[in-house]
Amino acid sequence: MPPNATEGHGTPVIGLTGGIGAGKTTVSRRLAELGAHVIDADSVGHQVLAPDGEAYEDIVRRFGKEVLDGDGAIDRQSLGTLVFAEPRRLKALNRIMQPHMASRMAAEIAAVRARPEPPPAIVVDAAILFEAGWDQLCDRVWTVSASTQFAMSRLAARDGMSQDQARARIDAQWSNAAREGGADRVIRNDGTLEALLAEIDRMWGEEVGAPPAE
Ligand code: ATP
Repeated sequence: MPPNATEGHGTPVIGLTGGIGAGKTTVSRRLAELGAHVIDADSVGHQVLAPDGEAYEDIVRRFGKEVLDGDGAIDRQSLGTLVFAEPRRLKALNRIMQPHMASRMAAEIAAVRARPEPPPAIVVDAAILFEAGWDQLCDRVWTVSASTQFAMSRLAARDGMSQDQARARIDAQWSNAAREGGADRVIRNDGTLEALLAEIDRMWGEEVGAPPAE
């Protein structure tokens, strides 16, 4: 009989989401340093789009050869330009990719849980965790929220984005309130980096801390 990875109390799976520039990557890096196994949805997306990936053929069939580069690989930038110009195309892309991404993530969760010495927690790091329904893979969800003002100034400092560009990107996403409504924990990131890291360390301790004595 194959091992049932979810049998009993498997390693907890924490979904991590948050708005653009809110600090999700900073949180996810810290959780990895603390010992979490982090599954990065962006990397999983790259894997399903690769020439040997599950979505490759369907994408080429749907969007044509113009999304391919000289080597026959999907050029993610061309694909992005194509789908963001037309909401129906973005929906089609999501419909093709997201189920394959969910399967890959579920398989990785099962494989990590089945290790002889699993990590204390698994983190699914995904900006579109709720939109894609991947919260279903998770035992709980943490969301990182920063005020628009903080997110905008961080995006300006990190990516050199203008105020207008940053606002357009923020407005195109689910609001903090929507994500917070579905999350079990909200990580507010309106203070210093040190305060954020201390909060994550505290939450990690609560999540994986030693079980109470009998
Ligand atoms: P994106 O979705 O755009 O990738 P993100 O939510 O993953 O954004 P990060 O990359 O973690 O955001 O943070 C954006 C920038 O802000 C980074 O350069 C990060 O170092 C910085 N940053 C995050 N939190 C703080 C903070 N509390 N104080 C100062 N700088 C911060």
